[in-house]
This record gives sequence, structure tokens and C-alpha cells, in this order.
Amino acid sequence: MSETDQGARVRALTHVINGRAAEGRSDRFADVFNPALGNVSARVPLASVEEVDAAVAAAKAAYPSWSETAPIKRARVLFKFKELLDRHHDELAELITREHGKVFSDAKGEVMRGIEIVEFACGIPNLLKTDFTDQIGGGIDNWNLRQSLGVVAGVTPFNFPMMVPCWMFPVAIACGNTFVLKPSERDPSASIRLAELLKEAGLPDGVFNVVHGDKVAVDALLQHPDVSALSFVGSTPIAEYIYTEGTKRGKRVQALGGAKNHLVVMPDADLDQAVDALIGAAYGSAGERCMAISVAVAVGHIADELIERLTPRVQTLKIRNGMDSEAEMGPLVTSAHRAKVAGYIDAGVAAGAKLVVDGRGHQVDGHEDGFFLGGTLFDDVNTDMTIYREEIFGPVLCVVRVPDFASAVALINSNEFANGVSLFTSDGGVARAFSRQIEIGMVGINVPIPVPMAWHSFGGWKRSLFGDHHAYGEEGVRFYTRYKSIMQRWPDSIAKGAEFTMPVAK
Ligand code: NAD
Repeated sequence: MSETDQGARVRALTHVINGRAAEGRSDRFADVFNPALGNVSARVPLASVEEVDAAVAAAKAAYPSWSETAPIKRARVLFKFKELLDRHHDELAELITREHGKVFSDAKGEVMRGIEIVEFACGIPNLLKTDFTDQIGGGIDNWNLRQSLGVVAGVTPFNFPMMVPCWMFPVAIACGNTFVLKPSERDPSASIRLAELLKEAGLPDGVFNVVHGDKVAVDALLQHPDVSALSFVGSTPIAEYIYTEGTKRGKRVQALGGAKNHLVVMPDADLDQAVDALIGAAYGSAGERCMAISVAVAVGHIADELIERLTPRVQTLKIRNGMDSEAEMGPLVTSAHRAKVAGYIDAGVAAGAKLVVDGRGHQVDGHEDGFFLGGTLFDDVNTDMTIYREEIFGPVLCVVRVPDFASAVALINSNEFANGVSLFTSDGGVARAFSRQIEIGMVGINVPIPVPMAWHSFGGWKRSLFGDHHAYGEEGVRFYTRYKSIMQRWPDSIAKGAEFTMPVAK
């Protein structure tokens, strides 16, 4: 089917409740766009409270049997799911590109990162293995369990429609929970496909449900008494709201928020490597990544040369339809988001930052209605400017000049966001000092986007994460389970008589 034909057919999307497609009943819908063409490709239903209730009820009904299923059997379902994901890797990536806009090779990388979490979750029998102490005293043994929570929910952002849901549900269901996903209404198709593949892998109905929607659906999940825990990934104001409202109702909540990630270029850095890193990390996925680099911190004399080398690279970015194999950067997700990012560029100019490359008004031949914006580069940005303080979430790189290493660290540590950071240097001592002094959740040394692998855990500090656990990896297993300690003895080791003193090992 050609791009134009694809655009002409508007697909009607459904929720997935209890293993079946469920048409929207609320009479509220949102348009889903193909951002490269600028046309509506699908209509997604926005769930009512009753539809959320139905999804939670399905998950609740599936819980007793699923939580009692042996971990190795749960892992086998996930293993089949992983095989299906491998088989449908390109199809999933294409779904993502056509709704999000990111280039196809980048979408394939996103799918791979999702698959890796599924691979991690396949190890659940080992991950749930716990400690046992024989003979803590007088015929008594002590051990612990990690038990599932019940029905858990996930609310995810538009920028990783497959990877971020995969940060949550594979680990959650491997632990024995049942799940309700509320994906982004801007690119919801990947999550529907994930539900279909889970069913094909043999997951019992009701263990994984998808409800689409907006604030109504999210609030219904937050307020639902049968939802024990909620994972959220999205912008900081909503993350804070979710954390506050969820914990107030006694739910366990992890809410990952926005970011403003810096990349520090030391005078001794390999400048070619630093420029490559900045171009990929600032403009890849059109800057719509929570780990995108949006600030380059140029230390000392390196600043002029850095700007000189960055400028032609930004001017010649290959900005195309993400399905074009030559594309380095695709469009933004919606025209509203493009207008918001362009508004930040206007604000940067008005505040006196030096606009070195202006991406506003960028057109792509044959895609005049697409939501494209060119790569943008600012120099002489300072910390009072909105373009420095706020998350732009677009292809805009700000260069801030600082005199020395200590000023770079102080600058970054005073930012309210603390998701990721990167340092380019060839000095091991500086790198070590940086890793220890920087108050940021994820640190890269000569690595621009240090997204932890599936068996480590992902999360920022400060206003980039509300809650106590990072996502996936062992932190994910902890988040999705409750710890229980058991102490046991048998009648032949029990001495006669009541004891009134605090029990101690005998
Ligand atoms: P968003 O906050 O607008 O939306 C996230 C989710 O919240 C969506 O499912 C959306 O439907 C829902 N939502 C929107 N408004 C709501 C409201 N008023 N009440 C309740 N729910 C609401 O975020 P987005 O634009 O989809 O994604 C981009 C943001 O996500 C950026 O800020 C980015 O940094 C952040 N993000 C963070 C991480 C991380 O790991 N820290 C990862 C990816 C994205």
C-alpha cells in the first residue's frame, strides 16, 4: 500500500479488554496522525470511567490464577512473546514510525530495547529467588518472599510507544501481577499489537489489557480501589500529579518525569567524537527523547571550535519521512507540538540567545503538510532563559559556555531536572570526579545517551522521578513485588512456657 493510500484510510482503533478488542463506547475519540504526511491515519477511542472499570475488573479476575502460576510457566509465555517480537520486529517499528515520526532504524532500536526487557523478564524464576537462613536459633528458620501486588497500571508517553510500556508490563506480569496499560493517545497502535502478540504467546485473557484515553482514563486508574500500583512516564507536571494523587490513595507509584540533559565537552575531549555525539543525541528522534541532549556545556577555549563544527552538521541534517532509508531525522509528533517547539525558538531569540541555525519554516519536498522542523542551534545561552530552564522536547540544541570543570558541575547540579548527563573527556581523573559529584540519575562518560541496559535500571533524580524505585531491572522487580519475611519452627523445638522478653537468638 502506498503512503497516500495509507493516509486515505482512517483506521478505527479499539481498546483490548480481557483478551478481546473492545470498541470505544464513550463517544469521545482523538485523531492519530501520520506526522510525515500530516494526515489523520486513525481514530482512537478515549475511555470512559466505566471502560476503565471493565479493564480493571478483567485484570482482577485474571489475577488469582496468574499469580498462582509457577514463575517458570509465566516465563515460558514471555519467551514465546519474545520470539513473536523478533518475528514482528520490522512491523512494530513501522507502526511506530508511521505514528510517531521517528526514523525507521531508530524505531527498530526502540523495539530492540523493548525486547531486551522481555528477555530480562524471562529470567523471573531466578529473580524471584530469595534468601533463606537456616537455624537463626533454636530450630527456627527465617526466609523471605517477594509476592505480587495485584492489578497494576501503566501510563506511558508518546515518545517511545513500545519501549516504555515494555519498561513496565513484562516485569510486572512476570512477577505475577495483572496489568492495565493506558498508552499515549498520540501513537497507540503499537500497544494494541503488543496485546495481540501476548495473546498469541499464550497469555491468559485479562492479564494484559489496554485502555486508550486521556485524563479521564488516567484519573479513573488513579482512583480505582483495585489498582495497587501505578507506573507513569511522561512530563514532570503530570508525573508529580500522578505521584501525589496515587500515593495519597495508598498506591505504590513510580512516576518518571521530564528532563534537561547536558553534555559537557572538556577542552581535552576528542572534538570529532563529541560533535558526532551531540548531533546524534540532540537531533535523533527530533529531540523527542527523555535522554536527548538539549544543552552542550562547552568548557573553556573549546566553545568557538565546537560551534564552528556543529553548525554545518546541523544545517545539513537529512530531514525526511522516517520511512526513507536515508533519513536521519523525521518530523515532530503533531503540528501542535511543532508549534510549541517553534515558540521556544522565538523565546530564545527574544531573550538574546544567538540563533546560529534556525529550523523554523523547514519544508520537506513532497511532504509539505508534514510536521517537520529543522535542526536548531543556539549559542550564548544562559540559565535565565526559558530555552535553558524548560524542557523543549524538540530538535533544539543550546550551547552554554563555562570557564572550567567546576562551573560545569555546579551548573548541572543546580538544574531542577536530573535524568541523564554526559561528559566527553580523555582524562580518567576528571571522568571519575564527574561520576561521583554529579547529582544525576544516569551518567555517560564519552557515551551521549546512557540508557541503562535491561538488567540495570532506568531513572533520574530530583524532578525527573517521583518515587523510590527506578524502572525495570532488579528495581522493577522490587517495585512490582512486596517483601515478606517468614520465621518458622515446629513443635519439637518449642520450649514450654510463655516468653515475655524480646525474642533473641538462642
Ligand atoms: P505527557 O505528560 O503529556 O503524557 C504522558 C501520559 O500522561 C500520556 O499517556 C497522556 O495521555 C497522559 N496525560 C496527559 N495529560 C494528562 C493529565 N492532565 N492528567 C493525567 N494524565 C495525562 O507526556 P508526553 O508528551 O506524552 O511525553 C513526553 C514527556 O515524557 C517529556 O516530558 C519526556 O521527558 C517525558 N518522558 C520521560 C521519560 C523518563 O524516563 N523520565 C521517558 C520518556 C518520556
